[in-house]
Amino acid sequence: MEGDADFLGIFAAPIGVAISTATVDRRNVLALLGLAATGLARCSRPPLEDPSSTTRDRARLDVDSGREDAGVTQERRVDVVVVGAGVAGLRAAEVLVRAGVSVLVVEARDRLGGRVHSARALGTTIELGADWLFDTGFHPLAARARAWGIDVRPSDGSYRLLTRDGRHVSTTRERRWREALVEHIQRGRAAGAEGADRSVGELVRELVARRTEREADREGIAWAATAEIERRYGASIDELSLLHFDDAPAPRGVDGRVLDGLSRLIDRLASGIEVERSFAVARIEHGPQGVRIEGSRGAVRAKAAVVTVPVGVLSSGAVTFAPGLPDGKRAALSRLKSGAVAKVFAKFPSAFWEPREEWIGRVLPLDERGRWVELVDLARYGGAPILCAVLRGPNAIEVERMAERAAQGELERVVRALFPGVYVAPEAIARTSWSTDLYALGTHSCLGPGATLADRDALAAPVGSALFFAGEATDRAHAASLRGAYASGERAAGEVLSALGLVGDAGAQSAASTS
Ligand SMILES: Cc1cc2nc3c(=O)[nH]c(=O)nc-3n(C[C@H](O)[C@H](O)[C@H](O)COP(=O)(O)OP(=O)(O)OC[C@H]3O[C@@H](n4cnc5c(N)ncnc54)[C@H](O)[C@@H]3O)c2cc1C
Repeated sequence: MEGDADFLGIFAAPIGVAISTATVDRRNVLALLGLAATGLARCSRPPLEDPSSTTRDRARLDVDSGREDAGVTQERRVDVVVVGAGVAGLRAAEVLVRAGVSVLVVEARDRLGGRVHSARALGTTIELGADWLFDTGFHPLAARARAWGIDVRPSDGSYRLLTRDGRHVSTTRERRWREALVEHIQRGRAAGAEGADRSVGELVRELVARRTEREADREGIAWAATAEIERRYGASIDELSLLHFDDAPAPRGVDGRVLDGLSRLIDRLASGIEVERSFAVARIEHGPQGVRIEGSRGAVRAKAAVVTVPVGVLSSGAVTFAPGLPDGKRAALSRLKSGAVAKVFAKFPSAFWEPREEWIGRVLPLDERGRWVELVDLARYGGAPILCAVLRGPNAIEVERMAERAAQGELERVVRALFPGVYVAPEAIARTSWSTDLYALGTHSCLGPGATLADRDALAAPVGSALFFAGEATDRAHAASLRGAYASGERAAGEVLSALGLVGDAGAQSAASTS
């Protein structure tokens, strides 16, 4: 769409929208705006410090002694245990296995992939989790897909903005709204003293309350906040740090979708890796002698563990550590949030929503901000006539929890109003449930007010010589994405190899090679 490139680049790439290789302008604005992002703090702070952690616990960590603890019926021994079979865990395991290390991946679910979940539904394959490989020219998984002969279809980033009754909004107005949003954020940042961070949402609400703009423009600016910021960071602007939400560099270039589902990449990544499914880890003991993890399928001892569970799960206290995690990591976890994205897929008898752009956006009254604000045309990717509504933040949580019939009714009303005269009712719908998924508890990590990229580094830092951390939230450059997850697994595997002296740096590099 004409004029998109300048603005889409300003806050980093929105999910699924191709960023044209922009421009000196874009770099300037990024430099002006600074870095990062946040999400939904809906979990009470966890008991990360296990109060029962004592010298007795540490004594149980005698990995090499062969001593068995009373009451443990089944105890495996490997060099490295990886907790979580998402992209980060599988990549870490792959690098370690290539280096000749014995690895067991333990995964709470009965499937692999974590927040990648390509499901057969509505007569086709739909992505319940991640969809897009951002910036395919530089994406390691796009490179792996090419090597595996898996087709990645480029996105054209086309976007059509409509009023709630289906009238087209001109690109000039759209551009003006995006410009106004950027200007307001710059001003808001300049006005706020360093150390007095607050949410982007607070600033946007102030702006729309001031009534210095016409009502339609205030609605448009509120839309721009959703399309530009929430889409990219997978979180509500109410949870995003005004000062730091865009700290990480924006993906550039063309995004892509894997035909027939991202899970195809997961299957390839997992080949040759031993994964024990339905093994929910509850406790991790760690010390100089190694680690002992305990969960729903017994216990495993290893020289080291790589923990890749999402921020929402770590923060919930579902996994306890003995000894407890250091203060720095706990503080980082209290600032890193877990954003919410919901998808509702509607399959129609035919694709009546002409002209066919990849994204359809809606400008909404202020009190409905973000509600059914964007739809993706999945039929463009060779599948069935499906529109996928994407919601974020509190709207996402509400729609995931409402009765299915109510969600369908709301979506039908929205689509009917957008396409009067041609609308036909959907044959079926499907929707996600990430906000209540016990092994995700959210969708993307993000930086809340007061958080910075240093919190991602603190989360990534090893504890002692045996406990290592990976997962998208630990990657400062590409957090909240598949690319970040993949890179973090590789980084953690390298740390393990060095710490255990199993191979030198050169060996780690060759193990990490994807060729
Ligand atoms: C709806 C949605 C849309 C997204 N869209 C995109 C996109 O378009 N592009 C993009 O790049 N990224 C996107 N993302 C983000 C991307 O999916 C994640 O960044 C990435 O998949 C995270 O990988 P990970 O390995 O760090 O974590 P996960 O995939 O979450 O892996 C962690 C694993 O740990 C397991 N686990 C949890 N608790 C335990 C336990 N107690 N014991 C054992 N195992 C446990 C989980 O089951 C999971 O398999 C999206 C995410 C969602 C949910």
